[in-house]
Amino acid sequence: VTPAPLPVLGTEVCAPLADGTEIPYAALDYAASAPALRRVWEDVAAYLPYYGSVHRGAGHLSRLSTDLFEESRRTVAAFLGCRPDDRVVFTRSTTDSLNLLATSLPEGCEVFVFETEHHAALLPWQRTASVTYLDAPRSPVAAVATLDAALAARDTARPALVCVTGASNVTGELWPVPELAAAAHRHGARIVLDAAQLVPHLPVDVAALDVDWVAFSGHKLYAPFGAGVLAGRADWLREAAPYLAGGGATRRVARTADGGVETDWNTDDSRHEAGSPNVVGAYAIASACRALAEAGFENLAAREQLLLGRLVSGLAELPRVRVLSLFGEGAHRVGVVSFVVEGYDSSAFAAALSDRYGIGVRDGLFCAHPLVRLLTGAAAGEGAGCGEGPLNAVRVSFGAGTPEEHIERFVRAVRELTA
Ligand code: PMP
Repeated sequence: VTPAPLPVLGTEVCAPLADGTEIPYAALDYAASAPALRRVWEDVAAYLPYYGSVHRGAGHLSRLSTDLFEESRRTVAAFLGCRPDDRVVFTRSTTDSLNLLATSLPEGCEVFVFETEHHAALLPWQRTASVTYLDAPRSPVAAVATLDAALAARDTARPALVCVTGASNVTGELWPVPELAAAAHRHGARIVLDAAQLVPHLPVDVAALDVDWVAFSGHKLYAPFGAGVLAGRADWLREAAPYLAGGGATRRVARTADGGVETDWNTDDSRHEAGSPNVVGAYAIASACRALAEAGFENLAAREQLLLGRLVSGLAELPRVRVLSLFGEGAHRVGVVSFVVEGYDSSAFAAALSDRYGIGVRDGLFCAHPLVRLLTGAAAGEGAGCGEGPLNAVRVSFGAGTPEEHIERFVRAVRELTA
């Protein structure tokens, strides 16, 4: 018997089918945005009457909101296993978090990043640093060896940062984070973990993994309220220019004798949080952290692996379906699976899943163009490389709120559509 899913919102939503009937919607696009946990919604709804401006008022509700905002920061720090002097900065998203770090790099910094990354982790660095793009490794061991070799050749007089994903948003495959962190540190570099697809599925412990920063988004962690997190080492963040210039990030602003304006910026968490912060988003993330910790990641992951096993073995029986994998046989993955169907355009396939079965998946390149191109080209028998090649794939992804029936319906639908 499969354990029950965690209660999420949206389970009563019905999807219209092409034949004019309706069916309960099967949300299998958690990797894009996961539905809100019911518990998160209840916490947020209970808080909304007390809503007030954070850090700005002496009134009761302002103080209460400020306390909840700062408590949310502590909850996130505990959830991530942060070290005592780590910072937790609330941002808008993973993209925002990594862009913030990109603007906080020290002078002359070099960045090392695999070509397989999500664009949010691939692109921000080229604006502020010199970047070395590492070729796609075909195993976790090769990933560590590739990084090791690249870092061994670097100019150690310059600061360096490595950016890696914890779990791929395309293949769902897990990357060897502790080993990559050890390689980075062995060569005097720092490392940031893009945990957008990892935190919803597995525990992330910043101190145990020994990563310097971690970034993730609330809307993939069952808290869809427009907030994200960058957590980790204080020094680069403290020394960097404030991400946004404005109120809340300043200690003192004064006119100067020569007619200008001079500013002392805060050096604590608020340095990069100018403007009225998204207290609802931060509180929702903290609520999700509490709910997941209470449910226990061992239980959630065991359930997910059970459903994943059924999904993957169901697809493996279908001769026209090719599941995309970078690391191949034996790779560990979270509940994220991309595939191509021989003789079927991926967009048309995803549309058929929606129109005939009420199943929501994603098709496309998943904001990881080099990786998807590499894998779909290889799946079609073309040589790997940076040519155009076949493109789109279909991605099915799920999590703690997914009922068994959604996975069963999905496997049956793919079987029928490819028969
Ligand atoms: N990194 C990974 C691995 C992702 O899957 C995503 C979202 N698809 C992002 C970064 C960017 O997240 P967001 O769109 O919330 O900024």
